[in-house]
Amino acid sequence: LLATIAAGALMLSACSGGGSGSGDSGGGDGGLIGVAMPTKSSERWIQDGNAVKETLEEQGFTVDLQYAEDDIPTQVSQIENMITKGAEALIVASIDGTTLSEVLQNAADADIPVIAYDRLIRDSENVDYYASFDNFLVGQQQAWSVLAGLGLSDLEGEPAADAPAGPFNIELFAGSLDDNNATFFWDGAMSVLEPLIDDGTLVVQSGQTDIEQAATLRWDGETAQSRMEDILTANYSDGTQVDAVLSPYDGISRGIISALTDAGYTVGEEWPVISGQDAEVDSVKAILSGEQYATIFKDTRELAKVAADMAVAVLEDEEPEVNDTETYENGVKVVPSYLLSPVPVVADNVEQSLVDTGYWTAEELGL
Ligand code: BGC
Repeated sequence: LLATIAAGALMLSACSGGGSGSGDSGGGDGGLIGVAMPTKSSERWIQDGNAVKETLEEQGFTVDLQYAEDDIPTQVSQIENMITKGAEALIVASIDGTTLSEVLQNAADADIPVIAYDRLIRDSENVDYYASFDNFLVGQQQAWSVLAGLGLSDLEGEPAADAPAGPFNIELFAGSLDDNNATFFWDGAMSVLEPLIDDGTLVVQSGQTDIEQAATLRWDGETAQSRMEDILTANYSDGTQVDAVLSPYDGISRGIISALTDAGYTVGEEWPVISGQDAEVDSVKAILSGEQYATIFKDTRELAKVAADMAVAVLEDEEPEVNDTETYENGVKVVPSYLLSPVPVVADNVEQSLVDTGYWTAEELGL
């Protein structure tokens, strides 16, 4: 009988992970920490999830890592489940930063500290700390990379001595507006591009210069592809060439590249300069083959470590290290943050920034 009960209990605990996540693991004695990630459809979140899990397990914690496949109710119920299972802390990369107020109130009622991971959680006082990158700088770097590809500046935005006069045709893409980062990326990029649009160096033939027009719900590559197709049909059918595309994320860049290819663009002289973000393998390969000009590398291993250290510090009644207490106002309060530095990557520094640092192997990049 005892054996039957034990087997039943084992089965129960094996099932309790639920959902599409990888469930419980580890088994140290530091207690359970819930880690909620948005989706597995983008490589970076897989890297993030694995890195957070590893870091915490190394310190003796048990980790419940869940992915919500970009479905908001799924993410809410995954977090709810973590609370029910007795999680002692939560690390959350939200899908929609405004939809977690209720479930985070439940966390607060159970005295569970919450770390917002990469994306700020909005409209809730129950967010204790925020681990991310300097997201305004990410946007600036994306814009500078576009200018660098056009020969107008270097990757830090320093104007080129022998800059061509232009004008250059540019189209603009933004991320998902329910993600707080999307506005930071856009504002950073437009702080660089707007003066050049105003003085006529850059021309947006579609006229779509508002973030609402440029936005891409859920950062979806296919959505971006079809918007790019529409823009090309409506504004470039007469042979006018697109010279550059501001893209906030590698998955969106790949959609844009497909639209350009379908419209008859070929890599070489007329191929536009395209930015990106996250240094995803396929996009780094696209940089090496000339389809994409740049990406912004954000070392997910570093971010994972910052977030894990924050959670552990709070659990040990210590003050986590922060380096920004002004920028990230979430609608209710300013969330104390630790911001890491993003790194622009072009063909020339792929090896140095991504291979030498061990982020990707030469083999993975086909080098
Ligand atoms: C992240 C980016 C990522 C985007 C789409 C943002 O919140 O900061 O790194 O490209 O989400 O997943």
